[in-house]
Amino acid sequence: MIVILKPNSGDKEIEQVISSLKHYDLNFNISKGSHTTIIGLVGDTAKVDSEKLETNPVVEKIMIVSEPFKKANRKFHPEPTVIDINGRKIGGKEIAVIAGPCSVETKEQIISVAKAVKKSGAMFLRGGAFKPRTSPYSFQGLEAEGLELLKLAQEETGLPIVTEIMSPRHLEIFEQNVDVIQIGARNMQNFDLLKEVGRTKKPILLKRGLSSTIEEWLMAAEYIMAGGNNNVILCERGIRTFETYTRNTLDISAIPAVKRLSHLPVIVDPSHATGLSRMVEPLAKAAIAAGADGIIIEVHNNPEAALCDGPQSITPAQFDGLMKKLGKYAELEGRTL
Ligand code: PEP
Ligand code: MN
Repeated sequence: MIVILKPNSGDKEIEQVISSLKHYDLNFNISKGSHTTIIGLVGDTAKVDSEKLETNPVVEKIMIVSEPFKKANRKFHPEPTVIDINGRKIGGKEIAVIAGPCSVETKEQIISVAKAVKKSGAMFLRGGAFKPRTSPYSFQGLEAEGLELLKLAQEETGLPIVTEIMSPRHLEIFEQNVDVIQIGARNMQNFDLLKEVGRTKKPILLKRGLSSTIEEWLMAAEYIMAGGNNNVILCERGIRTFETYTRNTLDISAIPAVKRLSHLPVIVDPSHATGLSRMVEPLAKAAIAAGADGIIIEVHNNPEAALCDGPQSITPAQFDGLMKKLGKYAELEGRTL
């Protein structure tokens, strides 16, 4: 349920409404926009006497929110959320570009890729240290040493780090070393992990599960937000369909759909969506045209020798060429790159 207050309402009116509801076991989600103030009621609202609430002189209107996601719902928070990470914003006018290898492999590799993508205009460095591999015999990532190497690359370039967490037991080292914590597609419904990252204030990059509906994805975001962390960035990374030509099928329609349903920023991963380096460019362009707030791209200095996801990785030179072209697409959408 959402309570829309009369225009020009302030903290006093918010307090008045909240105190009139304090005998219910509810959480309150306040959204102060330029024109309207909204109080979102989270919890079991079935018992709330909405008719009585509507007679409160500071209340303009009551609306029932039928969707199961509340804090992630645009009705609760009509203005788009902009997440600030050390002064770099995701969800604002600028398209956020996150680039780097699938996995951190060596100090030389991560530092050289970091320097190259920074020079081409990337805003963040990505690189996996804990890898969710399909086979237990594949390279599993450098783990804690990988985080150390990412830290060195950050010291060299100043780029904030985006990397994937796989287990709640690593949360403390991620909080200390990482700027954006990624929840991978395979862990999108790992509810323990979602609850755990909900307790931090670190921004969370939440990838869409391999076979998840948009509603399931937003409910995963709701888990994180229910714990108190509103800094969630959604990432469409392709879903399973009957098509086998590409690794996954990029659900471009998810971008305008999620933008309508939620206030959270949405970015696109054309690398995992296709599994093919030659398809990264057209789908990055499509993502921007469809309204994405950013893109995350795998860049490797030597894709043929990559320990993970080489076929979908582009080279630093290809990334540079892509960035030069994407600026015009961003401009067409009234954005910057
Ligand atoms: C990754 O970003 O390297 C990754 C494993 O992504 P996803 O969870 O989307 O497969
Ligand atoms: Mn990868």
